[in-house]
Amino acid sequence: MFGEEYDVIVVGGGHAGAEATAAAANMGSKTLLVTMNLQTIGQMSCNPAMGGIAKGQIVREIDALGGYSGIITDKSAIQFKMLNKSKGPAMWSPRAQSDRMRFAEEWRLALERTPNVDFYQEMVNGLLIEDDKVVGVRTSLGLEIKGKSVILTNGTFLNGLIHIGEKQFGGGRAGEKAATGITEQLTQLGFESGRMKTGTPPRVDGRSLDYSKMIVQPGDEKPEKFSYSDTPILKTQRECHMTHTSKLVHDLLREGFDRSPMFNGRIKSIGPRYCPSIEDKINRFSDKDSHQMFIEPEGWDTVEVYVNGFSTSLPEDVQFKALRSVKGFEKVKFFRPGYAIEYDYFPPTQLKHTLETKLIDNLYFAGQINGTTGYEEAASQGLMAAINAHLKINEKEPFILKRDEAYIGVLIDDLITKGTEEPYRMFTSRAEYRTLLRQDNADLRLTPKGYEIGLAKKHRMEKMEDKLSKSKSFVEFFKQTSVLPEEINPILNEIESSPIRQSDKMFKLFSRPKVTMDHMLTLEPVTKFVKENNLNNEVLEQTEVQVKYSGYIAKEKVNADKLQRLESVKIPPNFDYKKLNSLSFEAREKLTAIQPVTISQASRISGVTPSDISVLLVYLGR
Ligand code: FAD
Repeated sequence: MFGEEYDVIVVGGGHAGAEATAAAANMGSKTLLVTMNLQTIGQMSCNPAMGGIAKGQIVREIDALGGYSGIITDKSAIQFKMLNKSKGPAMWSPRAQSDRMRFAEEWRLALERTPNVDFYQEMVNGLLIEDDKVVGVRTSLGLEIKGKSVILTNGTFLNGLIHIGEKQFGGGRAGEKAATGITEQLTQLGFESGRMKTGTPPRVDGRSLDYSKMIVQPGDEKPEKFSYSDTPILKTQRECHMTHTSKLVHDLLREGFDRSPMFNGRIKSIGPRYCPSIEDKINRFSDKDSHQMFIEPEGWDTVEVYVNGFSTSLPEDVQFKALRSVKGFEKVKFFRPGYAIEYDYFPPTQLKHTLETKLIDNLYFAGQINGTTGYEEAASQGLMAAINAHLKINEKEPFILKRDEAYIGVLIDDLITKGTEEPYRMFTSRAEYRTLLRQDNADLRLTPKGYEIGLAKKHRMEKMEDKLSKSKSFVEFFKQTSVLPEEINPILNEIESSPIRQSDKMFKLFSRPKVTMDHMLTLEPVTKFVKENNLNNEVLEQTEVQVKYSGYIAKEKVNADKLQRLESVKIPPNFDYKKLNSLSFEAREKLTAIQPVTISQASRISGVTPSDISVLLVYLGR
């Protein structure tokens, strides 16, 4: 059945697997996607939303490199919001609610339309290994499929165990089987594995809710989109709603605590700290009588509704009773109860920057299997693993993004250098250079790189070049053009910014904190320039950021360049740290395990002190 050898075999069709399949195939690798259920490619296991703080930047980065997540999100979006708009542009983060069923369908269709992709539905339960090198996979029917490289993206499925109250049963997600065999083989090969957990709220019937008792949460008045390519912008949007838990709801939930797998010791593994279950929130913040809940439609046409903020693994009768006491939920009907799931992961310090494992050549791990949580984190790893798998089998240099180049670079460097003991999600605070890593400039940062490796296509590159040159000339226009007091003072007075007495350069006035592009667009010469040069919203946004934040951006670039110097001090492969007695014991152990590639990476390992770094620098003759 599978006589031929594939270049890349991707195991699992979740967010990491789908993105990996697309990237490998688009770069020219003959690619096979083996997944347990071809109906659930790109399935959103939890919240039907993409993006959000720091995650939105990641989706833009994936898109800029030539990945699909942004395009799929735009095609299936039902609501769009730019979060943090009141803060500086480094914090602006796009987020979209998606139609869950369309999201998965768009993924499946996009992969079907991609050349070089074959599909096969089955569980992979073993790897074919020869001389510490992966050469294919074995399926549960006993088929052996040959591949030059294999990317494992098993998500929450490896020995997945679902908990609802006192009941527990095997499963990778509600209604789906768990995957077995892989963890057992990998641990025999010497890999370390661990357990993590995550949870999800109940889904309910929207027709049973009383929205008049809730607060409407509309999308942005002027919605944007994720992809830099020509995807549609939403013309209409679906509303979300907000309601709150109460003391009564908390009391009802507490009644089930003795039957909660979280509190009776049945769940031992650690869950995502920043996505706590409702029982966790009540327990940890016992002084709070109320928590927010966001009621989010699951699509354009379906009546199913996602109850954001009410993730729980309490017994279903307790979930139901408590939810019926929430304002607007008095007559609620359940579609599915909430649940928690425990699953195996592999501490990511066992990987190289390329996401290839250190132990087995040409074997890559991407997504939740690496201890991360979230679709965006998973998708970006799938993309990077596939790029590197393709490059390696074509004997090309690896593709590694640095911490000052992309959130994806921060994510992978954090994972492989520091590891993670709890589900890792991205935050803006994890990035040292977040003024550089904005959602508005992901194309400027990454499309040239994606184009160079053959993933981003020519039209993306041309679009990026057009945006760059147009925004540069618009910034130049503001620098060169003056404005008279009688033209600008009405605007300045309105926003309580001190008026000017004589004509001044537009750039200087636009740099003032409260002056926005919308204000500048009320000036005749500005609108004339915009019309004549056919400037679109992206160019306007980019120009605004360049004018208002150029000082901060330049400062951060200098700092990033300083880091670059340590990044250039390479450590030889398989360096024997044990022989350097002046290193602390902990540093020797950690450096030996992680084998950092540069001094800069070594300095980020927890337990490696500045004095250890000095010892290494002296030894390396620097
Ligand atoms: P998944 O999306 O899990 O996909 C794995 C894919 O691999 C599936 O298609 C599966 O069929 C396939 N597969 C697995 N093993 C095999 C095998 N051996 N052979 C063939 N195919 C296989 N994220 C958040 O950010 N916040 C949350 O609150 C949150 N809550 C969650 C709650 C639940 C109950 C679950 C299940 C997930 C939750 N997530 C949450 C996590 C989010 O779903 C994942 O981070 C994301 O889906 C991971 O993507 P992935 O591609 O790594 O894996």
